[in-house]
Amino acid sequence: MTFVTIVTGGSRGIGAATARRLAAGGHDVAVAYHREHTAAQAVVADIHRLGRRAIAVAADTTNPDQVQHLFDTAADLGSLTGLVNNAGITSPIGPFTDLRFDDLRRVVDVNLIGYVLCAQQAARRMTDGGAIVNVSSAAATLGAPNEYIHYAAVKAATDALTIGLAKELAPRGIRVNAIAPGIIRTDIHALSGEPDRPDRAAGRIPVGRAGEPDEVAGAIAFLLGPDSSYTTGAVLRIAGGL
Ligand code: NAP
Repeated sequence: MTFVTIVTGGSRGIGAATARRLAAGGHDVAVAYHREHTAAQAVVADIHRLGRRAIAVAADTTNPDQVQHLFDTAADLGSLTGLVNNAGITSPIGPFTDLRFDDLRRVVDVNLIGYVLCAQQAARRMTDGGAIVNVSSAAATLGAPNEYIHYAAVKAATDALTIGLAKELAPRGIRVNAIAPGIIRTDIHALSGEPDRPDRAAGRIPVGRAGEPDEVAGAIAFLLGPDSSYTTGAVLRIAGGL
């Protein structure tokens, strides 16, 4: 079977590690990104070196027309079998009372509206079954107090999206699961104003350290592959015990 998978947010962090991991496991990959064209092209070059097909596609996942263009372009790789809904953002860490409306709006748009738009395109196009993995967060159950409660709430919505889609799409042979990473070493923490958060937080993580993107990528590959053929509607926590 040929795997053709779209990874949103594939240019950096968890998405880039996942795109490379999937290619090593035999997937052809559409590496979707927002602005970091050079980073996305570097991931594509790595995938080519692994002997798989890949394309980089720019798309703001909050924009329905750009999402449609992403999926139309990815069709050049063949019939879609997988989607990793991963493109996500946080906003500046701080107390709930300081949350700015623009940051709230953007976090909801990217992390929820974007996931829904991409899942809808995938569900329409996976006519012969497939698998979707939504990248949620351990924040969904921890609540992220004093950091970004709105982000945690949206990630909880991701879990509900996963459960509903898993049930609705199961009769069509489409599995839908989520992963819930804890604190993973990526650029996302710089955006929240605390680039050193993975090291600062190490002391409160039971295993004593932050995670690496590659430690998340393997779980996503599992949930997209045949070893998880009876797994749907699951939220797999990858959080070092958090
Ligand atoms: P990251 O390193 O900051 O990368 C974010 C990715 O999302 C980039 O590829 C970026 O594209 C893309 N992106 C951002 N806004 C977008 C938009 N509007 N449209 C399309 N793409 C967009 O983040 P990460 O840490 O790997 O996070 C990936 C996912 O894991 C997110 O859903 C995040 O919430 C979740 N997560 C992360 C952690 C963690 O500790 N890192 C923990 C739990 C959950 P460009 O490169 O083009 O900007």
